[in-house]
Formats: sequence, C-alpha cells, structure tokens
Amino acid sequence: MYKVTLPSKEIPKKWYNIISDLPVPLPPASESEEGHQLANLPKIFSKSVLEQEMSQERWIKIPKKVRNVYKMIGRPSPLFRAKGLEEHLDTPAKIFYKREDFSPTGSHKLNTAIAQAYYAKKEGAERLTTETGAGQWGSALSLACSLLDIDCTVYMVRVSFDQKPHRKTIMELYDGEVLPSPSNKTEFGRKMLTEDPNHPGSLGIAISEAIEDALNADGVFYSLGSVLNHVLLHQTIIGLETKKQMEIIDESPDIIVGCVGGGSNFGGAIFPFVKDKLDGNLDCRFIAAEPKSCPTLTKGEYRYDYGDTAGLTPLLKMYTLGHDFIPPSVHAGGLRYHGMAPLVALLAHEGIVEPRSVSQHDIFTSGSTFAKAEGVVPAPETCHAIKVGMDLALECKKNKEEKNIIINFSGHGMLDLKGYDDFLEGKI
Ligand SMILES: *Cc1c(COP(=O)(O)O)cnc(C)c1O
Repeated sequence: MYKVTLPSKEIPKKWYNIISDLPVPLPPASESEEGHQLANLPKIFSKSVLEQEMSQERWIKIPKKVRNVYKMIGRPSPLFRAKGLEEHLDTPAKIFYKREDFSPTGSHKLNTAIAQAYYAKKEGAERLTTETGAGQWGSALSLACSLLDIDCTVYMVRVSFDQKPHRKTIMELYDGEVLPSPSNKTEFGRKMLTEDPNHPGSLGIAISEAIEDALNADGVFYSLGSVLNHVLLHQTIIGLETKKQMEIIDESPDIIVGCVGGGSNFGGAIFPFVKDKLDGNLDCRFIAAEPKSCPTLTKGEYRYDYGDTAGLTPLLKMYTLGHDFIPPSVHAGGLRYHGMAPLVALLAHEGIVEPRSVSQHDIFTSGSTFAKAEGVVPAPETCHAIKVGMDLALECKKNKEEKNIIINFSGHGMLDLKGYDDFLEGKI
C-alpha cells in the first residue's frame, strides 16, 4: 500500500470543534483597559466566523458551497505511506504523510481561506484584508477570494516581499492586491517606517496594518490565517480525512507530528485524534515541531498577550515570546510568529501536546533526505515536522518498535528553493 485516497463524496460534512471536549476550559479572549479590542471584533470579522470562534457545539456543519469548492481544489487530499523514507532509515516504523501540498497554492491554508471568504461574501463584504509572511497565506486567501468573488488586500512582510517575488506574482495572478509591510497605507505602517525606513517587517506588524485597514473601511472584513479557534476548526478537515483514511487500512496512529507556526495545520491534523485520546479510545502522542530561532512552545511563557504588534487584537492566553518579539528572518517564514493558537497552547500546557525545537541546518538536511527518498520537496516549515518524524522513526529502530507515525505534510517547497540553494552552497 502506497497511498490511501478518499472519493470526493467522502469529504467530511462537519468540522470538529475541540472546545467542547477540552480537559480544562479555554481561557476566554480579553481586552486591555485602554483598548476596545473585543468591541471591535464585529467590525472586522463576519458574524458566522465570530460565532464559530466562541461556539461550544462539538460539530459544525460545513456549508455545501464550501464542500464543493473543497472538492474543486482537490480535496480529500491523499494519505501517502513513506516507503522510500522507511527504507532509507531502515526503521520498523510505518511512516505516513498527509498531503496538504496537493492544494493548488501548495499548502493547507486554503482549507480556512475558502471558508472565511465564503462567510464574508455571504454577509455582504466587498473585500478581505490580511497579512502574509512567506506568502502562503496571502496566495491561499487571494485564490479563495477569487473563487468566491470578493476582493483581497494582502500586507506582506517586507523581507519576504523582497526575497520571494514569485509569491507576489501568484497573489496578483489571483487578483490579490499586495503591499509590502510596513506600508504607507496605514498609520501604524507609517509609524514603523519613520522609526526605520528599511524596516524588515514582521507578521505582528502586518496583522496590525490589515486590521487597521478593515477597521477604517466599510464592507471590509479582516481574515487571519492561523491562531484563532475558527481557523483551527476549519483545518480539522485534515484530521477528519486522515482518520477515515487510517480506518480504511485498519491502522491507527501511535504518533502524529506537525510543524507549528501559529498552530493551525498541527491543530487541524491532531484534534480529531485528541478527542479519541481524551475519550480513552486511542493511545497516541502529539508532537509539535518548531524552529529553535522562534521557540514559542519550548521557550515562551504561557500568559495573556496580543496577537499583533500594535495591540489591536484581543489578549489571548497562549505561549508567547512577547508581542514585540521580531523573529530572525529564517527561511521557514511561515513559522516566524511570536505566539501560538490558544487551543494548541492549552493542550501543550496540559502535557497532551509535546513540543520539540529543531535547528535550521537540520531541517534542510531532513528536507533533502525526504526529497531524495520520496520525491517531494517539502516546504521549509514542513521540514521541521519531517526532521522530528525521522528522529522518532530512528528511536523506533533503536527500540525495535513497529509504530505508526503520521507526519502532517503541510506544504511543498517548490517556491522556497532559495533556502535549499543556500543549504546546498553550505551557507546554512
Ligand atoms: C503557514 C504554514 C505553516 C505554519 O502555519 P500553521 O498555522 O502553524 O499551520 C506551516 N507549513 C506551511 C507549508 C505553511 O504554509
């Protein structure tokens, strides 16, 4: 068996909301004394998305239109067995990887982009604003907006804007408007540029700009690509499909690994299995892989903090490196974020999710091993999960254990070849 596919009609009909099943209640979002961050939420988010953010319902229906667009972009995505990698590592473990790179924009991010664009359009919005780091989220939202017929403005972190011009091309192909952040378009952006005309930008700053834009315009919503509960809810399509696929081959996972930036692909992949574990029906470890240079879960503090730099978002209880932390410009741009989804943070705090951090050199080494063994070039973000998955497979070899390891393959690296170039030239 090399791959498990699901027919389109088997696409899940509901997303899974883990809020109703958590071992301890999720600390609510709050606001600072001087801010109106909570009061501002209805201005920047669609009603449907805000309802989902706070919902206690265990299962939330996926609208038919959203399911159809999911099918159109190729869902359900296949689950592959990494036989080449198993042979290369000479491990008794079975390694599986869930192919989120099969999406047209190359990552899992379309799963929530489609849902968010759908609800915004349904509630009469004309435009969505957002931030993007490496460009993955910006391209996903631009495509989703184009498919659902709504405009899209993307504030792109300036270092990526300069380093990854091809992502900008893709966003523009999908009719997205792309601005380097900090930009001249918002008050906060202008303030950052006065402080440093060559400001490299950060996700936190780009979020502030996108929110300010939405707050000051009518018929405009803001869209976030990770961190928030509703985003992780939409991403559970990954774990729900994976569960069906494992059932088809009569296997169950012993370990699930994913990389974490804001926590959305990882949360989406594991939550349906976390439910089984909490119900006492599954014995499985959940391992979150993050960069050593942005070690939110392994070195951050579990406390309330803002999701952005200017403090326009509500305060969220999460692991954080501080909302003014500017991460070094590592190649895995999608993992350069100071915070972590409150849902993933809570599970880590409860010991249900185990974090591990990995170095930039190791991730490219693992990525090139994977490319040679399986043929697919992983995104640098995904390489974090691969590195940890490979380490675990080698532990299985040492202990002669035949475990099932699932790696959530969050995206391909065909637009991240600069990082691989630097690696091959010995610059990393
Ligand atoms: C954006 C991105 C990530 C990180 O975001 P999460 O919200 O943590 O999932 C990981 N992998 C890829 C390929 C991405 O594009």
